[in-house]
Amino acid sequence: MAAPEREDTPRAILSRVFGFPDFRGLQEEAVDAVMAGRDCLVLMPTGGGKSICYQVPALARPGTGLVISPLIALMDDQVAALRQVGVNAGALHSELEPDDAARVRADLAAGRLDILYVSPERLLSPGTLERLSRLTISVIAIDEAHCISAWGHEFRPEYRALATLPEHFPGVPRIALTATADPRTQTDILGALAMPDALVLRASFHRPNLDIAVRPKTSELRQLLEVLGRHEGEAAIVYCGSRNKTERVARSLVERDWPALPFHAGLSPIEKRAALARFRSGEPVVIVATVAFGMGIDRPDVRTVVHLDMPSSPEAYYQQIGRAGRDGEKSETVLLYGGDDIARARHWLEQSAAPEAQKRIMSARLEAMITLTETTGCRTQALLGCFGETLATPCGHCDNCRSPVASFDGTVEAQKVLSTIYRIGQKFGAVHVAAVLRGKESEMGARYSHDRLSVFGIGKDRPEQFWRGVIRQLIARGAIRVTGDYNALALNEAVARPILRGEDKVLLRDDPVEELKTARGARA
Ligand code: ADP
Ligand code: ZN
Repeated sequence: MAAPEREDTPRAILSRVFGFPDFRGLQEEAVDAVMAGRDCLVLMPTGGGKSICYQVPALARPGTGLVISPLIALMDDQVAALRQVGVNAGALHSELEPDDAARVRADLAAGRLDILYVSPERLLSPGTLERLSRLTISVIAIDEAHCISAWGHEFRPEYRALATLPEHFPGVPRIALTATADPRTQTDILGALAMPDALVLRASFHRPNLDIAVRPKTSELRQLLEVLGRHEGEAAIVYCGSRNKTERVARSLVERDWPALPFHAGLSPIEKRAALARFRSGEPVVIVATVAFGMGIDRPDVRTVVHLDMPSSPEAYYQQIGRAGRDGEKSETVLLYGGDDIARARHWLEQSAAPEAQKRIMSARLEAMITLTETTGCRTQALLGCFGETLATPCGHCDNCRSPVASFDGTVEAQKVLSTIYRIGQKFGAVHVAAVLRGKESEMGARYSHDRLSVFGIGKDRPEQFWRGVIRQLIARGAIRVTGDYNALALNEAVARPILRGEDKVLLRDDPVEELKTARGARA
């Protein structure tokens, strides 16, 4: 098979090999950076077109491109797709037949391989590393780069060792790619890969074709059937919080003649493969899954994603609903949540054996997720706000945009909260902020002389729960950031300043008095 001409320009390769007339979004900038030998971090939503960012430079630069990927199924898919367009691609991983592995090694040694997909374990095993470092490597791509972040929801300890790549491949440009938008993960990736000067390219994570709705859970199965009823004959994913529940829900659906099947990490490899094959076949199927049904799920026409339990973070939520509508067609996502979910998630976190520092981050993310479920504002704006992205106008495709909830003008209350956070130096958590607002004497307040500030006691007239609610809703709106360490509250200038200046009105959810009573009762 004829290898692509090495003299080709990136654009020529894009059109001749991949059949695309033009680069899309940030692809060209990423390709240019790598062509110039620069390290690069690409953040793009799923379906954004990340592969081209490393595949084109891998073909345009001399040598073999290395692609580090955590998922064998994903590697095999990519290799098959590349071979189809005439690129000599191969993979090295633990599930390869010996013959195939030998062929890939021979091609590699002869310099015939354009692109090699490799798992991090395999790459870093002494033999492989030695063999590869003798070859000309065009580019090193680190796919699903968020796996390197210990805070992320898909941490892979073996990714940590990738920090040593520059020692083995000096001067070879590296390009890290992820669909995780969270700013902390981004910082972690740059730090862990030791590429502080990398060009960071960040696409918008807005998915205009995704219809987002969040509803209180009243009757789970009835609500689920109602959503599915709008999508008969289409593919759907239903996320549940436990393996048992996926089995139970799938059974209930099958009893009602839905083509449902469960998917979770407890299935045997054969069952998993069978489920995946059915899902990929293109037939209408309802996968009832835990989060184990995740990375690498690549069916373009999933028309609906339903959550029967609350995800653990906005990042996880975004990834999961993002599996709908990858083809760009209108798709529906519905999250059902209840007070139980929230309590269970918090409890689970408290009981978790994770290190304290990690628990603080997980808790901050969980609270952000809770806030998302509560917001009266545009959900897309709130969700993107969690990733540090500002959407200028409400999306128009979420439940809150379509039918506004009961709310009151809380601009003055929001200003009180924001000025308090600012005055106390953006270094304290919600409990202390509420205490200062209420003029509550405390050791910390006295130590830092917060009791002498003009904001001390400006919120005396309202109970603590009220202020906690305002704070949560301001987090949801993106006006307040919860910083990693000690969950301190800080202002997100771009959103907070217009509120403080009175240029932006803040509508707050009118919390029913019942809820406040229960909350207080629960604390007593
Ligand atoms: P990601 O890895 O970011 O989820 P992919 O690399 O799988 O995304 O690309 C998503 C889809 O976009 C694929 O179907 C791919 O063929 C298509 N695509 C990528 N780049 C372009 C382009 N420049 N023009 C048109 N389609 C593209
Ligand atoms: Zn909206």
